[in-house]
Amino acid sequence: MTRILVLSLLALLAPSCLVGQWPVHSMDRPRPRVVDPGPERPAVPAPSDAIVLFDGRDLSLWMAARDSGPAKWAVRDGYVEVAAGTGAIRTRRGFGDVQLHIEWATPAPPAGEGQERGNSGVFLMGMYEIQVLDSYQNVTYADGQAAAIFGQTPPLVNASRPAGQWQAFDVVFRRPRFAPDGSLRQPARVTVFHNGVLVHDDVAITGRTAFGRSARYEPHADRLPLSLQDHDYPVRYRNIWVRELPE
Ligand code: MG
Repeated sequence: MTRILVLSLLALLAPSCLVGQWPVHSMDRPRPRVVDPGPERPAVPAPSDAIVLFDGRDLSLWMAARDSGPAKWAVRDGYVEVAAGTGAIRTRRGFGDVQLHIEWATPAPPAGEGQERGNSGVFLMGMYEIQVLDSYQNVTYADGQAAAIFGQTPPLVNASRPAGQWQAFDVVFRRPRFAPDGSLRQPARVTVFHNGVLVHDDVAITGRTAFGRSARYEPHADRLPLSLQDHDYPVRYRNIWVRELPE
């Protein structure tokens, strides 16, 4: 009887135990199934209480993350394009809990493979990356494909559109909470829709984004700038807005 009970308990616990078992960037980790999100859509207008961070005209609300100088990415035709080698850009003001809408497109025709194909990233609080990558018919490790919480959690499905088409992330982000002594009280949590398809459902972020090793938390301010990654590919962004959420 006891043995049956123990086995039943193990069976119940097994799925959650397995979640954290994949080594970072494991190529063996199952890749999410592909879902066609439907055709490319026009830009989604910002709601009335949103802070529009980029409306297609200028980067006045952004700066170079490297030296806090002017953001050097190229603005044209209603979008901003990564200028390779100029580094990440970040918002002038900081944010905590937010709803974020951001649209992006990777270079077409696609070139390269794996992580070397339209790589960029949306860094919430400048620390927690939602991966931007051309993941349309492009194999990479599951925790590094488009919409992954990079190095941590693959998206539930791969809802990528082909290179060159506009895609969208809609994100609900709850920042981490730290105790006065700097210890972690609550991890950050995130819900993400990729092209309208749910890919993260209130998932805990395990720490600051890291490459090739497990993430961990370091205490930080309650509000920090949103940043976009320069990974040397001319990825485009447009229509970026946030709504600050009550804490
Ligand atoms: Mg990236």
